[in-house]
Amino acid sequence: MKIPFSVPLIDADVIAEMHDTLTNTRWLTSGPKVKALEDEIQKFIGNDNALCVNSWTSGAMLILRWFGVGPGDEVIVPAYTYSATALCAMNIGAKPVMVDVNEDFTINADKIKAAITPKTKAVIPVDLGGYPCDYDSIKKVINAPEIRRMFTPDNERQRMLGRILILSDAAHSFGATYNGIPAGKVSDATVFSFHSVKNITTGEGGGIVLNLPEPFDNIEQLNFLRIFSLNGQNKSAFEKNQIGNWRYDIIDQGLKINMPDLCATIGLAQIRKYRNELLPDRKRIYDFYVKALSQYEWAIIPPYKNGGTESSYHLFLLRIKDFTEEQRDEMIRIISKNEVGVNVHYMPMPMLSLFKSKGYVMSDYPVAHHLYKNEITLPVYNGLTEEQLDFVVNVIVEAYMTVAGS
Ligand SMILES: *Cc1c(COP(=O)(O)O)cnc(C)c1O
Repeated sequence: MKIPFSVPLIDADVIAEMHDTLTNTRWLTSGPKVKALEDEIQKFIGNDNALCVNSWTSGAMLILRWFGVGPGDEVIVPAYTYSATALCAMNIGAKPVMVDVNEDFTINADKIKAAITPKTKAVIPVDLGGYPCDYDSIKKVINAPEIRRMFTPDNERQRMLGRILILSDAAHSFGATYNGIPAGKVSDATVFSFHSVKNITTGEGGGIVLNLPEPFDNIEQLNFLRIFSLNGQNKSAFEKNQIGNWRYDIIDQGLKINMPDLCATIGLAQIRKYRNELLPDRKRIYDFYVKALSQYEWAIIPPYKNGGTESSYHLFLLRIKDFTEEQRDEMIRIISKNEVGVNVHYMPMPMLSLFKSKGYVMSDYPVAHHLYKNEITLPVYNGLTEEQLDFVVNVIVEAYMTVAGS
């Protein structure tokens, strides 16, 4: 039995929606399907604003630029994440400052506190695997009087906020809740990813939602971001295509990162059944793994629920107790030989060439390395059958026994 690590959901609903786009709306770039997807995102989260863009990475760059972050500024990120979390800051000339994580894979608030300087403009907590960060602790750090005093605003938006911006990397956590609050309403700005391997996909894509405090008007800021995501052009191609509506202006130097309708079409068909079908289906898979693997004392189950905090069940980050990196790698070799697709999320960024060359050193992030060295991510996607899940678990257990016994 061959079980890939990830398979995008392309079912009859997706195909029907794409058929509608190609035969009825017949509009390819940002238009009615993007608008419909944004409406569904808002309905899902229960907020009043959403903007679709062409990736998480570009969306995060847009927010950082909106806040006036650039050369000379610092952005705090966890060392344990996908590199885009740091690259979005580097791409706009700012410096990512990496800090270590907690045992639950999410950024450590005390380490954030220790890393803050007068140059710190933003922190990007990552809801890793879909499990929300400890936002109460993060907010406590950011709002502490001595930290606020250190904040040195150099534009109007920074003055209005009066403190470090909290930008959530929710690439994994669409559908998660933190203390009963849906992802998207927890921090100042949240960016979701709709990349092909994520819970909802548009092929490539991202979604931005704002939850800025007073005196910001979130809808007004989002309307600006929409223009800012379209070369700073105050009318979209769809609007300009309405007869007689040709005149436009360029009001700011923006990015060109709007989502096309072609992409939105796929996500639209998925998000409509996300709450009642797709998310519960992911939970079913997660529950299966938890039940099957908890009976082994060597299996460390990833965090997924704690009171009002619940994962979006994006990644099953299994860890093998007391295994070295070499033993983990050997286990993956055996699992792969049995045609089960697994992965490692993540190699901490300081292990990667680019970041090494910039002076980041792995030994500065001991918890990140401790999590990485024995981590194996299991397949979680819609439609995996009990028979397939049984097979995955059997292959994992046999691989463990082979490596542990050798
Ligand atoms: C996928 C991912 C991203 C990047 O998303 P894109 O849409 O591919 O830009 C960022 N952060 C994390 C944690 C991710 O897993």
